Amino acid sequence: MTDGTPVPYSCAHCSGPAFATQSIAGRRLHWDVHHPCPAGPVLECGRDETPADVRRALLADEGTHRLQLSGGTNRLAAMRVLRTWGIPLNGLTADVTGTATEMRLLALLMADAGVTASVQGQGAGSGPADADGP
Ligand SMILES: [Zn+2]
Repeated sequence: MTDGTPVPYSCAHCSGPAFATQSIAGRRLHWDVHHPCPAGPVLECGRDETPADVRRALLADEGTHRLQLSGGTNRLAAMRVLRTWGIPLNGLTADVTGTATEMRLLALLMADAGVTASVQGQGAGSGPADADGP
């Protein structure tokens, strides 16, 4: 595992960076930001909704990923999953995009609902999702 994606962070004690990661636990999205501060490490974390600036940094780092529904999709089941995710119903006709972790979770939830979906990266040449970062 890597240290995560560098994210903007303002600290009262130093000007050091912070690093963000997203993960899936119990079918929910978890995020955390850790700041290795000389004054003591700082860890912020939460569930479901990643803070916008953190999410932006993740998207910039790993590229936008897209959820691809399979051909014979049960549209009703797929729409139900998207709705619990807060995506409007017309999300089914538009591209559903997000970070790699978000789309992996969404694909898991789709599979739970009997919908086959895959995740496609469309980042700038980031290659396979499990490639090591810099
Ligand atoms: Zn600090």
